[in-house]
Amino acid sequence: SPQGAADYLSGLNPEQRLAVETTEGPVLVLAGAGTGKTRVLTTRLAHILATGRAKPWELLVVTFTNKAAREMRERITHLIGPSAEGLRWLGTFHSVAAQILRRHAELVGLKSSFTILDTDDQERLLKQLLEAANIDTKKHTPKSLAHLIDHWKNRGWTPEKLPPGEDFANGKGHALYAAYQKRLATLNACDFGDLLLHNLTILSQHADLAAEYRNRFRYILVDEYQDTNVAQYLWLRLLTSSTGNVCCVGDDDQSIYGWRGAEVDNILRFERDFPGAKIVKLERNYRSTKHILGAASALIATNKDRLGKTLWTEDDSGDKVRVRGVWDGEAEARLIADEIETARKQGMKYKDMAVLVRASFQMRAFEERFLMLAIPYQVIGGPRFFERAEIRDAHAYLRLIQSEDDDLAFERIVNVPKRGIGETSVQKILHIARENGVSAMQAVRHLLTTDELQARTRTPLANFVRDLDRWRLLAADMPHWEVTETLLDESGYTAMQKADRTSGQTRLDNLKELTQAMQAFETLQAYLEHVSLVMDLERNAGQDSETGSVQIMTLHGAKGLEFPLVFLPGWEEGVFPSQRSIDEKGVKGLEEERRLAYVGVTRAKRDARISFAANRLVYGRWTSQLPSRFVDELPLAHVEPQSDTGYYGASTGMKEAKSRWDDAPSFGSGYSSPGWKRAQSFTSGQPARSASTPARKAIIEGDGRLIATAVPKAGSDW
Ligand code: ATP
Ligand code: MG
Repeated sequence: SPQGAADYLSGLNPEQRLAVETTEGPVLVLAGAGTGKTRVLTTRLAHILATGRAKPWELLVVTFTNKAAREMRERITHLIGPSAEGLRWLGTFHSVAAQILRRHAELVGLKSSFTILDTDDQERLLKQLLEAANIDTKKHTPKSLAHLIDHWKNRGWTPEKLPPGEDFANGKGHALYAAYQKRLATLNACDFGDLLLHNLTILSQHADLAAEYRNRFRYILVDEYQDTNVAQYLWLRLLTSSTGNVCCVGDDDQSIYGWRGAEVDNILRFERDFPGAKIVKLERNYRSTKHILGAASALIATNKDRLGKTLWTEDDSGDKVRVRGVWDGEAEARLIADEIETARKQGMKYKDMAVLVRASFQMRAFEERFLMLAIPYQVIGGPRFFERAEIRDAHAYLRLIQSEDDDLAFERIVNVPKRGIGETSVQKILHIARENGVSAMQAVRHLLTTDELQARTRTPLANFVRDLDRWRLLAADMPHWEVTETLLDESGYTAMQKADRTSGQTRLDNLKELTQAMQAFETLQAYLEHVSLVMDLERNAGQDSETGSVQIMTLHGAKGLEFPLVFLPGWEEGVFPSQRSIDEKGVKGLEEERRLAYVGVTRAKRDARISFAANRLVYGRWTSQLPSRFVDELPLAHVEPQSDTGYYGASTGMKEAKSRWDDAPSFGSGYSSPGWKRAQSFTSGQPARSASTPARKAIIEGDGRLIATAVPKAGSDW
């Protein structure tokens, strides 16, 4: 009803409003970056609740990251107040699936206290299975098997459903997969992929349950729909009722998880799956200036495989996107850190700036530089914190308290700190456990009643069991972070770290940060669940000061977010696009990389700054780099090439390099495009290298690449 419309509706444009108010029936919002898709979803949610169409717990809302889920919850509370409480089914695919699985775990042979394994545990387990099957783990690595199994799970394939032709280690794929699933069940554990896979099994085998959920979820809302994989798609289908009040929003140009099995086709399938679905297109971008949008649109236009769409903005203020070549990775970090300082001096807050990298190895240089200049920063999505050994150890203790069946946790800490329980004893315990189909802890408890153990093993084992039992009891009424502190002290773990002069203190600091972080969770289980879920997606360091901290994250992790000032470093062939996508046959991988570039540029509201380095240290060796092909694809109307940033480190002036940039002849078709001059050289007048180097090759063949990199760094081994 347009008259007397609620506050939250005002300010929406007509198309957005249509998507919000069409609450009944299937709706697909298909639109480019920054057009307000997420805003539509949030407002729609508020609208459904505010008009009493459903209770909060009757809504299923799926976002792509936990951060997005949190932000959405905050927004809704802001829009409609406390009635937003009770949105129990708002989260990521994994977190919602985990909730459902906890309620029906027994239907797939688990207890509701099951643990969720991280990749480390997973690979350790697979290694055991590979060794047991006498497979060479150098040739057929646990990692590659883990990857493959994940791929299968993303397609919704249980071992029984594995199609012929899917295999590992010459015909052993199926048996290994089946054995792995069986081991997980004995451990009362599942991996990430299982969360959805078990849901699929439960929902498709128990029609009554599925019907119950379909009744419960009267409205379903899904953000970033372009990145759903087959398993997630099937899961949504099983949960969608015949009334089909489902609203998905997405952008085919931002599909960046193909490598993880995401299917853009799910978008195209929507109309087929939901006949009569309303398709809403949004074309006005509210996020970025026209230069940012112009650069991003031209870039993505190079892709062949896309639906194509129009985007416009009313914001024609702002500068062109700057593109800069620098000497090496360190110079790039210096340049960006200096620019961050300048922006800060001009009044911009740190938290309004982000550095978005293609691969996490790029982060180190920035972290170091920022530390040196005392620029506060936060690494989002870095596995670094939760993957640290001391954090994993603490988690293993906690997991064992939470669920005795967790043999991997047992194995990890039964002799950490050293208790005199040797590797042979541990293997023997695990062997006995496996033979009898019980957990390692149960096996230990049993062994302690027999005389099979030697005294020097018996005593420490008995103490270990007694300690764990005591901490478990403590956990019943002591806050879990205090339990954690207690067990770290009483187990001797703290003392062990104190004794380590080299990195003990850092580890203790990290453990302190851990117990602090735990305080945000009501229960130990909630905390452990959080850890498994956010592990590879984000890390929350407290934003204490007003100006916050600069955000460093991967492009993948930046999806859906926005920042006034965005730095996009490392636009070099082999880094971005990645070497893998370049080596691949066909253009699929490259097009996905280009979509990632599009995601990167469109995160910026006012200012986007791209850079590339001429030299980079890769695996301990200096290599010369060519600017990314994506640099070539940016239109001069919206970008400003800058070669005189003064970050080359070369002695013979940038003036010369700059003039070469300006006067360079064109070397072939690629260079004579209406864009800027393609053949800039930063060689500072030094002699060209042997014909075998890539840059030299580019000069000779004139194959359309920029020649930016022909000079070795002084003292390097050319
Ligand atoms: P992405 O594809 O990157 O996920 P999106 O389509 O989800 O983007 P939003 O994040 O919802 O876009 O919106 C982008 C920005 O535009 C946000 O800051 C949002 O508040 C703003 N915005 C969206 N719609 C409007 C509107 N009608 N009026 C003013 N601002 C709007
Ligand atoms: Mg969004």
